[in-house]
Amino acid sequence: MQVSLFDDDAAANNQNNYHAQFRDLNDLYEQSKTCTKCRLAATRSNFVFGEGNPEAQIVVIGEAPGAEEDAQGRPFVGRSGKLLDKILEAVGFSRKSVFICNIIKCRPPENRNPNIDEIESCMPWLKTQLQLIKPRILLLLGRVAANTVLDNKQSMGTLRGKIIRWSGYDVIVTYHPAALLRNPNWKRHCWEDVKMLRSHYDKRVTSNQ
Ligand code: SF4
Repeated sequence: MQVSLFDDDAAANNQNNYHAQFRDLNDLYEQSKTCTKCRLAATRSNFVFGEGNPEAQIVVIGEAPGAEEDAQGRPFVGRSGKLLDKILEAVGFSRKSVFICNIIKCRPPENRNPNIDEIESCMPWLKTQLQLIKPRILLLLGRVAANTVLDNKQSMGTLRGKIIRWSGYDVIVTYHPAALLRNPNWKRHCWEDVKMLRSHYDKRVTSNQ
């Protein structure tokens, strides 16, 4: 079973009410940082909210914090984070110009995939982040993030290389930097994806089309 980011109208109404509980992203952070809604609270060192521009037009979403992220309380640090920084910089985006976060805010032990119940528990935080930031574009890193947000089971080969219109966002899917470190051959595809991100941003945001 996959968990959709926006399951149905009733859920959307609940999200609107939920969203209204928070003044801004800082308020959301303060109210979410001590979350104990799932078992991952017991094993985390740090809650990893995400960071970047609170009014970003691009939100970058990965799967879950790893060891370094858990230790520092920041998303995408360590080797895969440095690679993500380079990928973004290659197409003219600084880390501070976008907002970077994960579906799951606490590290699953041994970096296992998050369980469905953990995703269900954590998803309201991501939904609310998106409602407060109001980006136009989502960059989803890796199949777990893409299948979870888009509520499908499609392969990376099917998901990447195109703009997906979804729930009011323009979504681009590419490989997770950790996967690129394991499979450098995929970097060429990632490069194509982020060039598409740049040109879509220039069209949709800079030119406001
Ligand atoms: S993973 Fe998400 S739902 Fe679970 S404790 Fe952490 S913040 Fe809460």
